[in-house]
This record gives sequence, structure tokens and C-alpha cells, in this order.
Amino acid sequence: MNDRNIVDRLIRPEIRALKAYHVPDASGLIKLNAMENPYTLPEPLKDEWLKVLRSVPINRYPDPAASALRARLKVALDVPAGMELLLGNGSDELIQLIAMAVARPGAVVMAPTPTFVMYHMIASFAGMHFVGVPLTDEFALDIDALRDAIGEIQPAVIFLAYPNNPTGNLWDAQAIEAVLAESAGLVVVDEAYHAFAQQSFMDRLGKFDNLLILRTLSKQGLAGLRLGVLAGDPAWLTELDKLRLPYNINSLTQASAEFILQHPDVLDDQAARLRADREVLFGELARLPGVKAWPSAANFILFRTERRPAGEVFAALRERGVLIKNLDATIPGCLRVTVGTPQENAAFLAALRPAL
Ligand code: PMP
Repeated sequence: MNDRNIVDRLIRPEIRALKAYHVPDASGLIKLNAMENPYTLPEPLKDEWLKVLRSVPINRYPDPAASALRARLKVALDVPAGMELLLGNGSDELIQLIAMAVARPGAVVMAPTPTFVMYHMIASFAGMHFVGVPLTDEFALDIDALRDAIGEIQPAVIFLAYPNNPTGNLWDAQAIEAVLAESAGLVVVDEAYHAFAQQSFMDRLGKFDNLLILRTLSKQGLAGLRLGVLAGDPAWLTELDKLRLPYNINSLTQASAEFILQHPDVLDDQAARLRADREVLFGELARLPGVKAWPSAANFILFRTERRPAGEVFAALRERGVLIKNLDATIPGCLRVTVGTPQENAAFLAALRPAL
């Protein structure tokens, strides 16, 4: 473009300062960087699913309210009576709706850090400030610091990833309840990794009127469908729903998710397999000299390389055909690996040993 000035003049400085969410090219690599479920649907089920898709009228707009899918999800997610669901194109979209709804001038998004980067990015998109409250050295909630920050800053919304990404741990439930009790703003408990943690705040929805629960089907094997779920009091969801773009959940996603939710054992068994393999992988990692690994309640493991810079280990793994996540810039010395199939995990360990 000839005149860069017009871009600088019109685009908000906080947007110009952002770096777009980076998705590295994984072609030809064993992909253990994005918390995907490595398993697909069994072939017979895939055939049945394709039959369902055949009859989806893609010439028509989707059901704008995704009513049938919401009804199924309410049961599948054990949503308490009287609570509602709002669906998003991934939970990212729901985080964005929440931010847009509370984004008055000066309003703050708060989260313990390090955490999922989109809370900060989306705060910037919405013109809000982001305040991170550092976790302790072992990634626990620093409840005193949080209390002080909440009292002083009065955030409009606090995001608590449960378990946290990228650290993988579940924070103390009582500390989260204290945050809920002390906060005059919304508290969103983001349970993206629920299938691997099997702990939830869902049943506390009636107890705290500022609580919303975020879930996603992405980590359970349906990342390509882009389906996020927000559960909470209809009073909140009715307002947020006004900001949702019409038809945000496409017909193929609605039909596919409805179909797969009728076969819950498939995804549940895959999650159970991944939970078991996570423990095997953790054991192997923890035994490696020069590695500190943190126990995880999610489908990934955070680890520190103590003898060689994390960036070098990351690059060496990539050379050997394994893509994981380099977190050195966020948590010095650390990398994050997603739990894959036993073969993928073995390939990762085989590549890691000489890289350390
Ligand atoms: N929340 C957390 C804590 C995450 O780690 C992620 C994905 N990395 C998301 C939400 C977003 O997931 P999606 O948009 O695929 O539902």
C-alpha cells in the first residue's frame, strides 16, 4: 500500500501492537502442539455420520438457535435445571461475546497468568484493559494477590481456566469460590479440558449469580467443528445472545455434533484413553534427567528443559519431525506437549531424549 499513514491513523494502536494468533505449519510433522484429540471416529460410525450429513439442507440457513443441539448438550453437560446454554463458533467466540458485552471505557478483563492467551487478545479486540495476576511459582492461584487486585481494580470479568492452559493444573476449588464471592463482576470458569480433569463448577451455577461456565468440544475430538458452549443463568445469556452473529453455528456442525452426542461412549472412551496415556507420558517425562514436568489434569503436559535452552530443544524436536509448543517467552525454559496416541508419544520421547 502506498500510504501506510492512513492505516496507522485509522487502526487502533492496541490492534497495531498485536501479533495475529500464530498457527505454525505442521505439514509432515507429528502434531502435538494444539491439544487436539489424535483419534477420529471409528469407520462404521463415520459412515453413519456421513449419511446424516447427506440430508443436511445446505441451501438453507441453519437453525439460528440450534435448538435441537442445545437440548442435547444440556443433557450431555449436566446443565442444572433453570440454566441455559449459548453456543459459539468455538469457545473463543463466546469469550469475545462476553468481552464485547462488558466493554465500557476503562473496563478490565482479569486472569491469573500465565494462562490462555486469547483472554488478553480478546480484551484488546474489545478495547478493554487486561490485568494478569501472576500465579505462584508452582502455578497455584495467589489468592491474596487476586483479592487485592479484585478490590482495587474491580474487573468486569475474570477468566479462570480450570484446568489452566498452559500449566495443566486445577486450581484449588475453594480459592475459586473465594474469587466468585469477592468479585462484583462476572467470573467465567473455562472448562475447556473438562474431559481430562473430570472436575467442574457446573453444579455451582445456581449458587453464584456471577458465574458462567465455558466448555468446548474442541479438545474432545471435534476441534474442526468449532463448537463452544457457555452455560449460565438465562438473564446473562439473553443479553450475550444479542451480540451473537446470526447463524454462527453452521448446519454441518449442528448436525454432526447432534449425531456424535448420540454416541457419547466414543468420545468418552477416547478421553479415558488419553487420561491413561497422559499418566504414562508424565511418568516417562518426569524420569528424564534434565526435565522437570508438572502433573496435568488436561490433555497436555508442561515441562522445563534444565540443561539446554527450551528453544533449542523445540527446534531439535521439530528437526526430528515432532511439533510441540515453545512457551519459552511466556514461562522461561518451558515447552508444552499434547498427549497423542501411544505411538506419537513414543516418537516424541524418542526425539526428545537426544535433544535434551
Ligand atoms: N479455553 C482454553 C483454556 C483453551 O486452551 C482453548 C484452546 N486452546 C480455548 C478456550 C478455545 O477453544 P475453542 O475455541 O477451540 O473452543
